[in-house]
Order: sequence, then C-alpha cells, then structure tokens
Amino acid sequence: MAEVLDITTEEQAAIRSAYEDMIASLRTPFSQEDREQMDRAFKLANYAHRHQRRKSEEPYIFHPIAVARICAEEIGLGPTAICAALLHDVVEDTPVTIEELQDEFGERIAQMVNGLTKLDSAYQSESKQAENFKKVLSTLIVDVRIVLIKMADRLHNMRTIKSMPEHKQLKIAAETSYIYAPLAHRLGLYNFRSEFLDLCMKVLERDEYNAVARKLQETKAAREKYIESFIAPLRSKLDELGYPYRIFGRPKSIYSIANKIKKKQVPFEQIYDLFAVRVILDVPREKEKLAAWATYSAITDAYQAVPSRLKDWITIPKSNGYESLHTTVVGPGARFVEVQIRSERMNEIAERGFAAHWKYKGVTNQRDVYEQWFESVRDILENPNSDTVQFLGDFRANSFFNEEVYVYTPDGDMKALPKGSTALDFAFSVHSMVGYHCQSILCDERIVPMSYELRNGDRLKVNTNPHQKPNPNWLDMVKTGKAKAKIRQALKEEKRQQGELAKEALHRKLKKLHVEDEKAAVETIARHFTEGSHVDLFYEIGQETLQISQVLKPFTVEHGKLVLAAPPASNGQPHVQEKDADSRSRRSGANRPKGTTRLLINGEPGDQLEYTMASCCNPVQGDQVFAYLTSNAGLKIHRVICPNAENLMANYDYRIMKAEWVSTSEHSFVAELKLTGLDSGKGVIERISHEITHLDLDIRSFNIAAESGTFTARISLLVRNTDQLRLATRALQNLDNVSTVSRVE
Ligand code: MN
Repeated sequence: MAEVLDITTEEQAAIRSAYEDMIASLRTPFSQEDREQMDRAFKLANYAHRHQRRKSEEPYIFHPIAVARICAEEIGLGPTAICAALLHDVVEDTPVTIEELQDEFGERIAQMVNGLTKLDSAYQSESKQAENFKKVLSTLIVDVRIVLIKMADRLHNMRTIKSMPEHKQLKIAAETSYIYAPLAHRLGLYNFRSEFLDLCMKVLERDEYNAVARKLQETKAAREKYIESFIAPLRSKLDELGYPYRIFGRPKSIYSIANKIKKKQVPFEQIYDLFAVRVILDVPREKEKLAAWATYSAITDAYQAVPSRLKDWITIPKSNGYESLHTTVVGPGARFVEVQIRSERMNEIAERGFAAHWKYKGVTNQRDVYEQWFESVRDILENPNSDTVQFLGDFRANSFFNEEVYVYTPDGDMKALPKGSTALDFAFSVHSMVGYHCQSILCDERIVPMSYELRNGDRLKVNTNPHQKPNPNWLDMVKTGKAKAKIRQALKEEKRQQGELAKEALHRKLKKLHVEDEKAAVETIARHFTEGSHVDLFYEIGQETLQISQVLKPFTVEHGKLVLAAPPASNGQPHVQEKDADSRSRRSGANRPKGTTRLLINGEPGDQLEYTMASCCNPVQGDQVFAYLTSNAGLKIHRVICPNAENLMANYDYRIMKAEWVSTSEHSFVAELKLTGLDSGKGVIERISHEITHLDLDIRSFNIAAESGTFTARISLLVRNTDQLRLATRALQNLDNVSTVSRVE
C-alpha cells in the first residue's frame, strides 16, 4: 500500500519557514545542542501529524508551530518548553507514545507532553470542567511551564476559532472565559487575559463586541490626536529628567470598555478612559523606584493629579507579581487620563507574567509572590474532601479580585490577602491550626468580629484556644478559598467523629439482629436515609435526629441480609417523608398565602428568605405590613396596625424591614432572556427552571439547544417590573456553568 503524502511541496516549504521564524523569535539564548533537539522535536511532530489538517484545511503542524511561537515570543519560554510545545499534540492525536518521547527527548520533555496530553483527554471526555480544571492546576505544581504551554495552545485555538463550527466555538469560548482567563490573570499574564476575554466576547456577545469595536475605530483618529496633545508637553519635562523612556497611549481592551458601559449604564461616548498613557523607563533595577517617582512628579507638575486614584504597586507589588505606578491626571479639556509608570523590567513582568518573574527571580530579593499561591493551590489539591465544583468556585471568586489588602502580623510581617478578606481569613493565612482554634482577633489592640473586613495597614493578633473549633457559620465569615476548604474539611471531620458512637451502636444492633454482611447493611440504610452518605447517617443518629429503631423499621433480616420489608400499608419511607414535608412547610410558612400575590421584603422576593406570619395580628395578603427580624425565630411579618407594632418600631427600628405585597398579575410584561453556557451534563434545564420557579416568575416559553457541551437557552418570562428582571438575571448569572445572561430586546 502506497503511503499518501497529503502535504504539497509548497506547503512543506511554508512549514519549514514558519518553524524558522519561530526559532528566530526565541528570546532566550540557546546552545547548538538545544537547536538540534528542537529540530528533532519539529521533525518528529511534522512527520507524526503529516496526515492531519486543521479545520481551516491547513496542515496540522502549523498549530504546534504557532503554539511554540507564542511560548517563545509572548511568554519567553526556553528551548525545553519549545520542544514540548512542538510535541504537545503528538501523543494525543498520533501513534507516538510517551515512552518513545522519553527515549528520544528525556524525562522532562516527556513529562511535560504527558501533562498536556492528560489535560486534552480530560477535556474531550464527559468529565466536568471543574475536574478538568483541577487537573490543570495539578500540572501547575509539577511544572508551571505545562500550564503556560496550555495557555498558548488555548490562545492559538481562540485566535483561529473562526474555522470551528458555531457550537464548538461557544463551548471553547465559554470554557476559556470560565477557566483560562482567571488563570491567566492569576499567573500575571495580563495580555493573555485581555486577549482571551476579547476573543470570548467576540464569540459569546458578538453584537456588543462589534458595536464597541466599530466605535473605537470611528473615534481612533480623534483619540490619537488627543493623546499626542497630552504627551507633547510632557516630553521636554521627561527629557530633562534624563532617564531613557518610551511614552505612548494604549487603548483599553474591548472587553473592559464594554464591561464599563454595562456596569455604569452609560453610552460609549461617556466612557472617558478608553485608553491609558504608559511611560516605560529604561533604568537599572536599583534606580527604578526613584525614576518612577521622579516621572510621577514631572507629570503631575504638568497636569493636576486626582489623588484618590494613585496606586503604588512598586512599593508593594500585587500578589501575581504586577508592579507599576498608576495615577490619573486631568488632561486637556478636563478629561481624566490614566498614566501608568513602570520600568522595562516591570513591563515585561506585566506582559509575560510568571515566565518573566521567573527570569528575574534570582536577581531580586523580593518575597516570592508565586510560591505563596502555589502553596495554597497545593493545599487545596491535597485536601481529600475538597469538592471540585466548590473548589473551582472558590478559585474563581478569589482570582477575580484585582486588588489586595495588606495587613501585618504582630511581628510586623506583611501579608497580602484578596480585598474583602476577613479577620478569620487572616487567621487561616497564618496557619490552618491558628484558624481552627481562633478564639478572638485583635486589630490594632481592640477586639474585632471574626467577619471584620480587613483594611490596609491593619495589625492583627489572633488569640487561640485549643478547645475552639470551626462551626458552619464560619463559612460565611471567610472569603479565601484556603480558609473555606479548611473549614469544610474540619466540619466534615467533626461530623465523622460525632458519628463514631452512633456507628458503634448501630454495629451492636445489627449484630443482635444476626446481620452477617454489616457493610452492605449500612450501605443499604445510608442509601435509604441519607443519600448514601455514611458520615451523615452516623451523624444524624448521633444527634438523635434519626433513631436507630426508626432507621431499622423499613427493613427485615433475611438469611443474614438486611432487605427492604414489604411496603407497609401507609408508605415506604415514613421518616424521610415526614421530615421533608415538615421542613418544607416550616420553610414556606404554613400560613403563607399562595397565588399571584407575593411579599417583597426590602425589595427582594420574600420567598428567598425565611419568614412567618406573626400570630399576634395574623396578616393576610393586601394588609399593610412590615417585617421584623426576631432574635431567634427569623423574620416575622406584622400588620402595621398590630398592637405590638408601635413598640417594635420604636425600640428595634434597626430590626425592621420594609415589606409589601405585590401582585404579579398586574402590569406584567414579557421579557426574553438569552443564556449561554456550558452543559456539564447535569441537568442545566432543571437548575435554570428551578431557579426561575424559586423566584416565583412565570415562564412563558423555554427553548434550550444543547450541543457538544454548550447550550443556548431562550426564556420568556412574565415579570412585573425591571427590578424583578434584574433579580432574575442576577440569579441566573450566578448559576454554575452559566456564562452569559442577556436580555433580548
Ligand atoms: Mn493543541
């Protein structure tokens, strides 16, 4: 059988020159040996992929070459990573094995390709993106270059996404904005992050993207003219300082502009910071700070500064390594202009993130901003109880914080935590045992609540007590993923311990009943009562919310095996159903009116809160009412004319909330929402419709199209006002796997 050579001679020449261009773009020096190894990697990849073409029809090998080039040019990785990038798809897509790579290129490169391969196969399988993400992070600990190559791979796929079928575009884009953009941000790859977000927006919100892009284009000439008029008077001042510098205006990303328009609800024309001016100083390391502040001084001599906008990330860099001095000044025409001042080195770190940080690592004696993060990632990954979905949520929540807060230990050591972190987060950041046993926290010598939100410069001291332990409320008092994971772990362990006695008791009981296969029996009981969780089963027995006699009631013992008894006259699962029904009625309030009229408490739908009708005045719908937060029985709804009302309002006004009945049938209008997101295979439709039902909105129509792991849904809702619509949008946006929610006008 003759071999079919798919690649033409012209193509072969183009491949060769793409490879040479890639080599020429390497920023790091390399030896003759390195060059030979890269050549061999290229040759092997070129041969292995020879029968494949990309969706765009071009030979497949252009993709690994392009990925290698991004690694070389935009991240600044060296020859070893380049070899791995060239080979990144061979094990996945061709008969080449890891063992062959190991023989040919050695342990390191084989290990990197292996890491990249595993990610891809996880991505193609049904496994949830949270699992996939966990895998990405575990390779990060093996060798951070694996994740950097993965980023380059994803960036090239996003840049060439046009040639993919629409449904695949949606899936890739949704996953990119969900996982890769935050990860890029965390690794300090600012350019990657902006490009990811821009490219995602182009796919997921095409119209909005195009609208902003068009307006940016239309206003380009005027903007450039303005920037020149802003810069011109600065040049002589900067020349005088004598530091070599570059100064230029830089448009902000389309994504960030569109975001601002959405967030501030203003038209494009009113967004003033469409660009920033950047001054990059070419000075040695030891002169950086001085030069930056001298430059700041020169600029603020020329233009009036807006003091509240000064950000000094040179003295204290961000925890992803970012260093820069930002200020906003009032430019010609009274326009606010952001100016970013930094050295060439800082600029490189800002653009290439971790890789550049790595390069300068030995040179400075700055605290290693990444090591701390890697440590917390390792911590979470090694936690056997960490739920991956939870984990991804925590990670995303934490990495979206651009800003940090800097606080001090009693010894004067500085700690950087995500902005919004609490005193309890601080305790966990010191050590998990300090967190576990945290009894009280002093901030600048006075006691603060554990939920106290940290402020820059706080000096904190944690008092511990060996008898103290986490309780479930603590979960609401922390913000960082590390603290959350540690608390969850401790709570689970606590539950397990409390169940130990119950476990013993059940064991004795089963023995008495002559059950032989005890393990299977416990399994059966747990499945029946606690959705299979042994920990919960023992815990509930221990807490006496479940009695042992009750637990055994539905079963009989036959031939040493525990089996479900014949269905009793009433119903099969007396306990569970009673408990369920009971808690349901408690939750919804037994006398809560049903129908189209409902209660808004402080403007929020009341059914999201727990409330009951006060028995002193028994309000019914339509009555003028208010909500009162009791100290132990949740919210109570009273009539305004209740005999107790006056007393409550006079003495406890801080516990009073506004409550009003609204009729959902009056003045309702139909609004259509469009949702896109990832279809994790686990009941997206159920979760969306559950959420809407939960908000007590009527669905007029619901269309969902799922394809290859993404979905697009269109939902027509009957809403009373825009507040309701906003609430619904927000609630849907918060659902896992939902990427975008937009209103179809
Ligand atoms: Mn690839």
